[in-house]
Amino acid sequence: MKEPLIFDLSRSGRKGYSFSPIDIPERPAESLVPSKFLRKEAAGLPEIPESEVVRHFVRLSNLNYHVDKNMYPLGSCTMKYNPKINDYTCDLPGFASLHPMQPEQTVQGALQMMHELAGMLSEIAGMAAVSLQPAAGAHGEFTGILLIKKYHQKLGRPRRKLLVVDSAHGTNPASAALGGYETVSVKSNAAGRTDLDDLRAKLDGDVAALMLTNPNTIGLFETEIRTIAKMVHDNGSLLYMDGANMNALLGLTRPGDMGFDVVHYNLHKSFSAPHGGGGPGSGPVGVSQCLVEFLPVPVVEKYEEEGKSCYRLNAERPDNIGRMMNFYGNFSVLVRAYTYIRMLGAEGLKRVSENAIINANYLLGRLLDHYSLPYPKPVMHEFCLSGDRQKKEHHVRTLDIAKRLLDYGYHAPTIYFPLIVSEALMIEPTETETKETLDAFADALIAIAEEAASNPEKVLSAPVTTPVKRLDEAQASRQLNICCTH
Ligand SMILES: *Cc1c(COP(=O)(O)O)cnc(C)c1O
Repeated sequence: MKEPLIFDLSRSGRKGYSFSPIDIPERPAESLVPSKFLRKEAAGLPEIPESEVVRHFVRLSNLNYHVDKNMYPLGSCTMKYNPKINDYTCDLPGFASLHPMQPEQTVQGALQMMHELAGMLSEIAGMAAVSLQPAAGAHGEFTGILLIKKYHQKLGRPRRKLLVVDSAHGTNPASAALGGYETVSVKSNAAGRTDLDDLRAKLDGDVAALMLTNPNTIGLFETEIRTIAKMVHDNGSLLYMDGANMNALLGLTRPGDMGFDVVHYNLHKSFSAPHGGGGPGSGPVGVSQCLVEFLPVPVVEKYEEEGKSCYRLNAERPDNIGRMMNFYGNFSVLVRAYTYIRMLGAEGLKRVSENAIINANYLLGRLLDHYSLPYPKPVMHEFCLSGDRQKKEHHVRTLDIAKRLLDYGYHAPTIYFPLIVSEALMIEPTETETKETLDAFADALIAIAEEAASNPEKVLSAPVTTPVKRLDEAQASRQLNICCTH
């Protein structure tokens, strides 16, 4: 069904408000706003009763796809269900009505929450300290890179290069470039993990750090991580972890114990703040002891006064890298993450990761006979299939399979990423899905594999049930082919 624009629903004189008659002298608009800024024609706002406004937006929201509607298998994005209690706590007036410029004594509760959240995140990842300032994963990477830069500068031996593994998220090389570094790509081996020989060859005296995602973006754990950490540290370099995929590690293992010096978290992924609509997000950064002094200011500190715990914001830290954001980070996302962690506790967080891993492996098991798996299992919280077989045998590409999934009522997985897998279909079911939901999703993907063989036209013309049908992808797919042949 086509939904008209709200302007098309407008009828002159209809309205959804009523004001009391004005009981003060009315002042001409010119006395309030300089006349050159006054609009000459009417603003043309829609005129529509409240009932029709509500129905219009409810119909629009029904056309949308969201995680409250059904599973969202978007690999590497951890689109899991976000418990509603997170929104409840974040709406509590004590949090929601704060102003960021209020004096410290009046926001002790908020500072305590931030101090405790930073402590819990440090514990979860095994790091010495955490800054809550960065506003997103990529912003966390950039912060981490500035910390690494400061570290080498302070030692009096600035370095020019950052190593990034070729399966990395695109934000890694982008953040490295933004930080003023030259990016050098390290190859993955046949098992889908970092190629140690290639790493050894590229680790020279000019390498500031290696950026690694563990488990990596095809869902594989770096089994040689301790060896990698030793190689990197022996070279005087630091080890950065892209921790957007923390969903696989909670309570099971810790980046700090593996030898990482910096890690960023995506609170809007693993720690259940809604995302996908463009924010706000939060990408705190955890650091090992050697980087603590460089953390962005202000830092929330705890102290004792007259036998009472108090909190303050300290900006007097001589070697800090500066501020990464106005005020103190995206506060509402911090409240959500705090609530999520407190609700689950240590045991609950561990079960999150156990279930994320078992869900991914179960779903993969159901799909193995129908799609190719370029790198051997077992996987962690996500996996990456290839549509190569369908492309070769039936000229149906991953793009077509993804579009056909929309007809079955699902959001498409991540496709054509990471770049090391051709015709990639990257799927992250997350821990919040039931076996029934996983089975229904697997049934849909299996049915599409069968359609690709028996009736490829059906897959090639999808989607047919969405408000906007098949788009002309000729240009888009030419671009995809270019990037996949690299
Ligand atoms: C999502 C993601 C990022 C980037 O996070 P943003 O919050 O989108 O900036 C970085 N690395 C990996 C592996 C990710 O999945």
